[in-house]
Amino acid sequence: MTQHSLKTMGELRSIIELGNPILRQVALPILDVTDEKIQGLIDDLLVTVKQANGVGIAASQVAQSCQLMIVASRPNPRYPDAPEMEPTAILNPRILSHSTETVKGWEGCLSVPEIRGWVPRYQAIEIEYCDRNGKLQKMEMTDFVARIFQHEFDHFNGLVFVDRVESPQDLITEEAYQQQIQKSE
Ligand code: ZN
Repeated sequence: MTQHSLKTMGELRSIIELGNPILRQVALPILDVTDEKIQGLIDDLLVTVKQANGVGIAASQVAQSCQLMIVASRPNPRYPDAPEMEPTAILNPRILSHSTETVKGWEGCLSVPEIRGWVPRYQAIEIEYCDRNGKLQKMEMTDFVARIFQHEFDHFNGLVFVDRVESPQDLITEEAYQQQIQKSE
């Protein structure tokens, strides 16, 4: 029997929203990446982020306060211009280096429905992380994918994108975003 055949399909988990104190907790590192519960959580997050038209999700968003995120950039109705990549589980990451340059872009969050913010992020980062097989990996990320990582990394520290806007005026509704911003891009 191959290892693959032992894997179960992921299941949809419900996403908690801003106001739930778990979103404000600091996430703990994962001690045993190969643990069945962690592997199941990874599968569930992969399904959940896709179903919700997300491009990333942190485990704390399904009320599991541990250092696990999925980065899964792909075009979808919420982010039609997102670049395509293989959905990647990132565990216990750290940022090794980053550009001095920051860029602003529109972000939303599955835990902050109906709001978008104009958020500054590093344009490029280099990260080190543990993959789902327990192997240490390095990755360079730029632009939108770097933005996703930094957004999810903030969740590990109990931060959400509304904490990162430079002015409350940089927050707009989803509807205004769809009507004004997306059409003009
Ligand atoms: Zn988020």
